[in-house]
Amino acid sequence: MSVVRLPYVDGCAECARLREAEESARAAYDHSKAGDYRVLARRHLRTEHGVEALVVERA
Ligand SMILES: [Zn+2]
Repeated sequence: MSVVRLPYVDGCAECARLREAEESARAAYDHSKAGDYRVLARRHLRTEHGVEALVVERA
């Protein structure tokens, strides 16, 4: 399984929060929760940073 990380922005508190939440969910093998945080992160990246986040995942 490969996961392309979202382009989180260094120095952004919300990015740091979402990244930490996603990584801790993944570390706990809670993939549905990790996915939820990724959705939030993609929306945040698009609206706050103007980044169209590309996520590639393979099972
Ligand atoms: Zn951010």
